[in-house]
Amino acid sequence: MIELKINRIDVFKVDMPYVGGVYTLSGGREYSSFDTTLVRITTNDGIEGWGESTPFGPTYIAAHALGVRAGIEEIAPSLIGLDPRRVDRVNEIMDASLVGHSHAKTPLDVACWDIFGKSVGLPVCDLLGGRTSFALPVISSVGAASPEEMRHRVAEYRAKGYRGHSVKIGDDPALDAARIEASLADKRPGEFFIVDANGGMTVESALRMLRLLPTGLDFVLEAPCATWRECVSVRRRSTVPIFFDELAIDDPNIIQLIADDAAEGIGLKISKNGGLTKGRRHRDICVAAGYTISVQETTASDIAIAAIVHLGQTIPQKNLRCVLATRDFVGVKTADGPFDVRDGLITAPDLPGLGIIPRMDVIGEPVASYY
Ligand SMILES: [Mg+2]
Repeated sequence: MIELKINRIDVFKVDMPYVGGVYTLSGGREYSSFDTTLVRITTNDGIEGWGESTPFGPTYIAAHALGVRAGIEEIAPSLIGLDPRRVDRVNEIMDASLVGHSHAKTPLDVACWDIFGKSVGLPVCDLLGGRTSFALPVISSVGAASPEEMRHRVAEYRAKGYRGHSVKIGDDPALDAARIEASLADKRPGEFFIVDANGGMTVESALRMLRLLPTGLDFVLEAPCATWRECVSVRRRSTVPIFFDELAIDDPNIIQLIADDAAEGIGLKISKNGGLTKGRRHRDICVAAGYTISVQETTASDIAIAAIVHLGQTIPQKNLRCVLATRDFVGVKTADGPFDVRDGLITAPDLPGLGIIPRMDVIGEPVASYY
């Protein structure tokens, strides 16, 4: 085995405006731009691997962009000299250097997978277990707005070919019920809907909202409440399928989810879940449990989208709900690569590593380097 070592880690910062102006989540949370951290790892023989971490602002989960770069500062010196292909060992060193802070570890982990792929001439999806033979359905993300506005936005995405839609709710029960009815009003056969409250409802408001809906609406309810107990309480007293997202972030969470029979699936956001190495394990646990998986990111430009697509491309068809290619969110293109969405579907390229070429004119100079 040819010796391969991490020689250098460069960190970049890119500001990405939200293309739609202002994106709104439950609780009046608003987002108009995102602070992206990109990582380039260079090996002793000159292979470069890239990774990205873009928290959804500081109010989505316990992660923020300043913390990503501070976390990397804690971890990076420990990684110099390691073999980036030994991804589990790299993750052990990262976890021994800093407790938690998955968002800081993710770009380092993904960059190691990119190097691994380039070093052996294989795409990341094949290293993660092997590509499936179908193209991946891409889901849209429709921010909370008036019912008619949300119906209009779903129609716009449908016209672009999207077969699935994540619609955001989490305010007044009557308003939320109206948003769901409007968003599903023109539902086509085969289309799927994830109704996502991002933890914004109380048990009371969730149960009232569900009772206001007509029967027969076909959707999954994601992250109804902010706490585990509340989500399980809603789950015990309704028949609507439930996905966990913000509360399903690590091995113990996901094992507990299964033990509590608390959901039918999870939103696996790679940086929230700690990178591709840990995401691979969460994939396997969820597939073993018969869960449905939506592979996503907290936000992402092109480098993180590549990681989403490679992981999504390894999930059996019956377990894969969708992937979220968050390109619709961000107005900056950080890398090129064959990741176009065609007729609402996307496929991992058959190129070594992630299959992306970073745009250095957009990415600029490093804000920190470790070697
Ligand atoms: Mg969600």
